[in-house]
Amino acid sequence: MAPIAPQPGIMDIALYEGGKSAIAGRDDVLKLSSNENPRGPSPAAMEAVRASAATLHRYPSTDHAALRTAISDVHGLDAGRIVCGVGSDEIIHVLCQAYAGPGDEVLYPEHGFAMYRISALAAGATPVVARERERRVDVDALLAMASERTRLVFLANPANPTGTMLHEAEVARLAAGLPEACLLVLDGAYVEYAEGCDGGAALVESRDDVVMTRTFSKLYGLGGLRIGWGYAPRAVIDVLNRIRGPFNLSGTQLSAAEAAMRDRAFVAETLAINAAQRARLTQALRAMGIACDDSQANFVLARFRSPEEAGAADLHLQARGILVRRVTGYGFPEGLRITVGTEADTTRVLDALARFREEAA
Ligand SMILES: *Cc1c(COP(=O)(O)O)cnc(C)c1O
Repeated sequence: MAPIAPQPGIMDIALYEGGKSAIAGRDDVLKLSSNENPRGPSPAAMEAVRASAATLHRYPSTDHAALRTAISDVHGLDAGRIVCGVGSDEIIHVLCQAYAGPGDEVLYPEHGFAMYRISALAAGATPVVARERERRVDVDALLAMASERTRLVFLANPANPTGTMLHEAEVARLAAGLPEACLLVLDGAYVEYAEGCDGGAALVESRDDVVMTRTFSKLYGLGGLRIGWGYAPRAVIDVLNRIRGPFNLSGTQLSAAEAAMRDRAFVAETLAINAAQRARLTQALRAMGIACDDSQANFVLARFRSPEEAGAADLHLQARGILVRRVTGYGFPEGLRITVGTEADTTRVLDALARFREEAA
């Protein structure tokens, strides 16, 4: 009998590791490990979830029209070119499923998001990595690694876990320089935190080979509910709608996302807190001699002098109930990625790190 085996590539996938969420024996944990909104979800989204309970027996909408209209109203985009998914993870996944297979290549930068590799392998495609320069995406390196086999290029801008960002003109240069049969996917999970940036929406409208993905998991505080969306040329939308689940989003997900999208006051307050605390965290880390780049996102990548020191700092924080993210798997064994929290959260993490420094001195 032939052995039962999965498709090639699948067993090469290492399981995704989420940020830690609990510390045994502590009920005062400060979770700064998954770039979540430190204020929780918007109250309007919570109310929408409660209201949705009465219609749980109903199948949800398959065309997501109300949510796409809300997104279109807020962002000024064509609702007909929006696709909604179970987190932006699902958009990334169906893009790979639709456009890349055995013999094809999926290209992304060295420190790129883990889902790009996972989704490429799941589709049977070959992941290809382009080096970065000083924790910044290098357009020339991406262009040099692109080949006639490249079908998809993923670029998170701002990037996770570095927090750095490519200028609009560099993104446009990348789009223009890639081979013809290749889609550029701009992952905008953090783009709202970078002031005055459209996440590539204009590029999607001016070209036929660029896709933008966005999420409700970060700014909107709905990571637990799993909702994301994409903006793409009509031809790509037609493809993705054919392979996503027709009922991929529940009524609860759809109505919570719509309420969160329309709650602009909550968004503005969150952004103001993030900008203030990100600047404070960055300055204070540097004053302690802990290196970090200017972040355009809702986290800061703190770089210690060695992997051992980063590990010791991580344990020191955990002993004080604070969870941050080690990013060894992203190529930063000396790094800790710290989500920007509220003013009180930032005080707590900075006090703990100051104590760590004192004890080490
Ligand atoms: C968090 C994150 C996402 C969001 O994923 P969801 O599936 O929408 O929760 C996407 N891309 C990057 C780079 C991220 O860090």
